[in-house]
Amino acid sequence: MTRAFNFSAGPATLPESVLRQAQAEMLDWNGVGASIVEISHRSAEFIAVAAQAEADLRQLVGIPDDYAVLFLAGGATTQQALLPLNLAGAGQPVDYVVTGHWGKTAVKQARPYAAVNLAADGEAGGFTDIPAASQWRLTREAAYVHLTANETIHGIEFREVPEVGAVPLVADFSSSIASEPIDVSRYGVIYAGAQKNLGPVGISVVIIRRDLLERAGQARADIFDYRAHAARDSMLNTPPTWNWYLLGLTVKWMLAQGGVAEFARRNAAKAALLYAAIDGSGGFYRNSVAPAVRSRMNVPFFLPSTEMDARFVAEAGKAGLIALKGHKAVGGIRASLYNAMPLEGVQALVAFMHDFQQRNG
Ligand SMILES: *Cc1c(COP(=O)(O)O)cnc(C)c1O
Repeated sequence: MTRAFNFSAGPATLPESVLRQAQAEMLDWNGVGASIVEISHRSAEFIAVAAQAEADLRQLVGIPDDYAVLFLAGGATTQQALLPLNLAGAGQPVDYVVTGHWGKTAVKQARPYAAVNLAADGEAGGFTDIPAASQWRLTREAAYVHLTANETIHGIEFREVPEVGAVPLVADFSSSIASEPIDVSRYGVIYAGAQKNLGPVGISVVIIRRDLLERAGQARADIFDYRAHAARDSMLNTPPTWNWYLLGLTVKWMLAQGGVAEFARRNAAKAALLYAAIDGSGGFYRNSVAPAVRSRMNVPFFLPSTEMDARFVAEAGKAGLIALKGHKAVGGIRASLYNAMPLEGVQALVAFMHDFQQRNG
């Protein structure tokens, strides 16, 4: 068996030790005589798995006690619709800072439920920079300000938390949660689909300041209500137990590796190596994002022609470097460098880039 270096943006590479543990436990979890996938979510065994995953995630990310942590079925897009339903009154203004594709998605999901104000929009500049916070047109009575901490497709990342006054900051951390230390207390809500940096697809994490659970929001069924989920420890209905278990294993692996401080160090080194290869290629490889806000997690780049982009992806795949094709919205190449991608993977990619340029430059 050979495992390739998998640069997929999501669902993304997972630590091999996590996959091996899941494999070893598949038929009989912890001596219960059944798989974790086959037992009740209300069993003492699964409740312990769920509680441990939450405790470990709290430790890993540094989540204060005055924040609830929800584990919900569905993706980040689901949360993008639930946020205005839970936090904004019908027709109340909500501020959105759009710095790429996922910010646009968040706006689209919110529009049916709230009066979306585009406080800032980087689209005119091709999403190559983050509009200066001093230029944002914020609304004083907004229910919240939404931003995308890391734009997975455009490869742009907030490097500091913007100051937005008393209005709660809501941030989509799907592709950068646990990649470096964050100050959770600066946010009202942090949400993330798990399939980038936390585990498998099918489950999302919502970290919400408890006072925000008391907001009236809008008429909604219990199943769309964060407060109802919090009151039942995210077991209002059958949660995605397998995904929750795998997320727990992945978080435990991150803690054992040294936690977010260690991953910040590794991720900075990986990103520096790849951007240096791009910038040092004499223009053969190009990334047009402003250096100060270049993503450490997702690195999009382009070769001199779309034909060469395609050949690069095909040849890289044969060399054991897979899933490098850029998102269809922007094309080109994209290398995702989440926590589970080792430095060796990036070194192999950089060596391949050098070789490819020698042969084609
Ligand atoms: C992947 C991603 C999403 C969408 O996640 P789904 O699970 O497909 O809903 C939203 N925001 C960001 C930043 C992402 O990376």
